[in-house]
Amino acid sequence: MSDPVIRAINLKTYFPVRKGLFRIAGYVRAVDEVSLEIYPGETLALVGESGCGKTTLGKTLLRIVEPTAGKIFFKGQEITNTDYNEMKKLRRRMAMIFQDPYASIDPSYSVFKVIEEPLEIHGIGTREERAELVMKALEEVRLIPPEEFARKYPHMLSGGQRQRVAIARALVLRPDFIVADEPVSMLDASVRVEILLLLRELQKKHNLSYLYITHDIATSKYFSERIAVMYAGKIIELGPSSMLLKNPLHPYTRALIDAIPDPDPSNRFRIREVIKGEPPDLSNPPTGCRFHPRCPYAMDICKQVIPEFKEYQPGHLVACHLYD
Ligand code: SF4
Repeated sequence: MSDPVIRAINLKTYFPVRKGLFRIAGYVRAVDEVSLEIYPGETLALVGESGCGKTTLGKTLLRIVEPTAGKIFFKGQEITNTDYNEMKKLRRRMAMIFQDPYASIDPSYSVFKVIEEPLEIHGIGTREERAELVMKALEEVRLIPPEEFARKYPHMLSGGQRQRVAIARALVLRPDFIVADEPVSMLDASVRVEILLLLRELQKKHNLSYLYITHDIATSKYFSERIAVMYAGKIIELGPSSMLLKNPLHPYTRALIDAIPDPDPSNRFRIREVIKGEPPDLSNPPTGCRFHPRCPYAMDICKQVIPEFKEYQPGHLVACHLYD
């Protein structure tokens, strides 16, 4: 197998909880000891309930959010402490697509300007060359004829078209790695599949690697080679998508899969029907296994000892005392 495009080793991202102006009363452990890698041309789906740390992990991998501890490597180069100027160069090769195409695009910019801006920021090409790249990017995301779409403003577009503009903006710098944060969750069901298929097609064409963040484990089946399940800041199961969906090991993954038939895009509610109780407060997580207050299989050891994240079968890892 080739070297990973992105690798995280024991990554932690903690946010201080302030009391008053100066006192730090504790930390929200949004990402806690996460290790993973994503290979060229691969999609790793990162699945879990809202608030479990998925977006923070994605942003930390791109250094949009600074890690508290651990290491990040991009194409073999450690970027954990890379300075601003070097990081600016590397940012050309990494991009993020956000959940809300309405919020992630400046409404006062024309579509042309939205896509041209990253080229300008990175000082790429002359005006004419940039215009050519913008038209090409619009064609790639099927906003055709590109000259017509380039003149439009975001309010003149549908949700799906706006997300296509956001994808064109992410792609125009020819990145190697894209964090796609719930890229279809705010779109109508009818366009969700179209956008996922477009992302997949662009991945094949440009050998892109994706971290596909979603609360919907069902779409990961069609959109990812591997799935990582996150719970309360930790990856609790990771494996090839078909293997993990066919033979989920962790009780939380099993509950996520039980919630699949739900047509409601916010299946958080359904997960709560399947698993009793609330996810833990990340500023004060439970000792031992973080899932133990909600786990129907919890044993004494689960309350005291953090389960090791280890390989159960080749490529399929789980953190659960049931497999000790
Ligand atoms: Fe449940 Fe224990 Fe496994 Fe945690 S370690 S998921 S509490 S059985």
